[in-house]
Amino acid sequence: MFQKAISNFTQQHSYSSLCPKAFFFDMDGVIFDSMPYHAKSWVKAFEEIGIKFSEYKAYLNEGRTGASTIANEFLEQKKRNATETEIQQLYKIKSHNFEKCGDPIPMPYASQVLQKTKSLGIDIFLVTGSGQSSLLQTLNTFYPGIFSPDKMVTAYDVKHGKPHPEPYLMALEKANIKPNEAFVIENATLGIQSAVAANIFTIGVNTGILDEKELIQAGTNLIFNSMQDFYLQMDFLLDCCKKR
Ligand code: CA
Repeated sequence: MFQKAISNFTQQHSYSSLCPKAFFFDMDGVIFDSMPYHAKSWVKAFEEIGIKFSEYKAYLNEGRTGASTIANEFLEQKKRNATETEIQQLYKIKSHNFEKCGDPIPMPYASQVLQKTKSLGIDIFLVTGSGQSSLLQTLNTFYPGIFSPDKMVTAYDVKHGKPHPEPYLMALEKANIKPNEAFVIENATLGIQSAVAANIFTIGVNTGILDEKELIQAGTNLIFNSMQDFYLQMDFLLDCCKKR
């Protein structure tokens, strides 16, 4: 299955090889099990300004920047553009709600995946649509010695959030590598679309409530049911890359 996914990918892009020098990790739903908190925080924030927003919709919007999520709902429900001030105020409320949710919960087996990646000499980048300063600081508490500020792309760095390829293109630039020298690890459809549009081999880890066909339709090259599942098959997957 891995060999076939790799062959399909390299043929499609006319790459001579797939040899990962860096793994680009999404954060929410991959590194932290934070999506339930985000969903609740969004619903409550929108409620305050009379916009109906469901937790399900929050999951569908996962990976999009906060500003873009707010702009879309204003257009759809208030039939006008949100002002910069409205966007900033609402995002502040959402962030405040999120911070009140309590300590983030590390995703099971994220630590093992990160440690193994590091031990294999593969570079670790974080590519997230989040701009929560508290969450970024928390990375070092839960995963000491893994992440560094120069190896991160956050909401502050990009003009276009996922599903636009910009976040992953910027990660390639920061890592100074080609698209066939990276793997992306993503859990959400918009994130997968972003990685696929950047022509990077994309590993979908289905840690949320979505039917796996959603991730497949978004274009993921491989799919795992959990970070544990991915962890257990990392060696085999990397061997398949080397054999080509
Ligand atoms: Ca995510």
